[in-house]
Amino acid sequence: MSARVLIVDDILPNVKLLEAKLSTEYYEVLTATSGKEALEKVASDNPDIVLLDVMMPGMDGFEVCSIIKGNPETAHIPVVMVTALTDAQDKVRGLEAGADDFLSKPINDTALMARVRSLVRLKMALDEWRVRENAANQFGAVSESPSVMTEPVEGARVLVIEDKEYEKTKIAETLMRDHNIVMGAESGPKGMELIAKYDFDIVMVSLNLNGEDGLRLCSHLKSNERTRSVPIVMIAEQDDMIYVAHGLEIGAHDYILRPLDKNELLARVRTQIRRKRFQERLRSTYEISLNMALTDSLTGLYNRRYFEVHLDKLLQKNKASRKALAVILLDIDHFKKVNDTYGHNVGDEVLKIFAQRLTGSLRSFDLVARLGGEEFVVVLPDISKERSYIVAERLRRSIADAPFPCNTPEGTLKVTTSLGGAVIEAGGYEIHEILDRADKCLYEAKHGGRNCTVFEGEGKIDPAKYQESARISYEDEEGAAGAASSSP
Ligand code: GH3
Ligand code: MG
Ligand code: MG
Repeated sequence: MSARVLIVDDILPNVKLLEAKLSTEYYEVLTATSGKEALEKVASDNPDIVLLDVMMPGMDGFEVCSIIKGNPETAHIPVVMVTALTDAQDKVRGLEAGADDFLSKPINDTALMARVRSLVRLKMALDEWRVRENAANQFGAVSESPSVMTEPVEGARVLVIEDKEYEKTKIAETLMRDHNIVMGAESGPKGMELIAKYDFDIVMVSLNLNGEDGLRLCSHLKSNERTRSVPIVMIAEQDDMIYVAHGLEIGAHDYILRPLDKNELLARVRTQIRRKRFQERLRSTYEISLNMALTDSLTGLYNRRYFEVHLDKLLQKNKASRKALAVILLDIDHFKKVNDTYGHNVGDEVLKIFAQRLTGSLRSFDLVARLGGEEFVVVLPDISKERSYIVAERLRRSIADAPFPCNTPEGTLKVTTSLGGAVIEAGGYEIHEILDRADKCLYEAKHGGRNCTVFEGEGKIDPAKYQESARISYEDEEGAAGAASSSP
């Protein structure tokens, strides 16, 4: 993993020493010898991590860190403070300025490399979401640019897997100061039982469990679907640095050494909560905007953009599996008259109900999309010709058989639709060719009197011939309709 590391230290030999260590691990190294220069490089060179000396003349490390973390553009860049100070007070001050970790001089190489690697990995995961969020931004769905540092840190659910009762109590009492909900387990298996029941925001794992391998537990948490993205904070003895490094390597996010300092504990847990919530927020805004970009806001159906991508995927799949699929175009009959007679609002109501009826008449893996105006499309994967005629007729009837409840003087409105379909055998077709084929049939249906179905190669479908058999319903034969995912 190649990453760009910015080393900041006012003493040149210190810079050189770190630079040598990181260069041998193939990191790209940038350097700065003052706080001011550091901030310039952070702004211009986009580092993946900053190793920041605390004691510098002029602007010290705490101040530099606060500025990096206070700017939404740079707040996600991990900062590791490097210092000769070992005072717990300073450590906490650094963590509160937003530093992601603290390393003391002389720097332990194992700790350094493990930390850099793990923080860079976390940053890259965040970058990935930031890029997507940025793309989503172009659809106008996200209003403000979020920052890690503005995420709330309270009210998280924390699991502490620790068999030393007094440590567990101390951790719980400390974390409850931030109104976190803390649960304890004295062994891995007990912890896993709780994990099966609750969603945790953080799991703390002691690496000194009696008769148990804490690292194995961490790796288990990383491979478990429920806990894969939950931050793990290891609790370790001062001499456990080798294990800690290994833990960071397999995906633990952070560690804290005994004897536990309460403020350091709070600060580290806060950092993890912030980061997790930040990532969740990026993901959810991304999903919302993606949804907005791919669905039609009036009917909630997928839009043409999504339909094209989806059909393209299906066509590729069908080519490989040599299965047929049906594409059916539907266009509401005399829809213009609805608007002209009752107004646009009633027209919109009709479109919504129309969409609901289609969705309600399909299997969960069939696709319905609104192509625009009063034109819809249905894709039925893995289906025979006869079956698709039956389904098309069923859709037609779902519209025509019962009037739509609408805001008209009568309270209802009779609506019908014409359908044109083509069954696409396995082969390489372009989407527009397929739509053209179905559209020709739809045109015939319109000219053949409307409220009818025309299929390529078959002509007008005889409603009497292709009726749902009373004995076997569509779902029974083709697999349960289940939760309708034919619409988003
Ligand atoms: P045909 O039976 O031949 O399909 O006739 P039609 O009147 O349904 O077809 P035409 O294409 O002439 O008219 C479609 C109308 O749909 C015109 C347009 O104003 C209306 N329309 C398109 N989108 C919307 C919408 O989102 N809401 C409403 N209320 N009307 C819409
Ligand atoms: Mg129409
Ligand atoms: Mg039309």
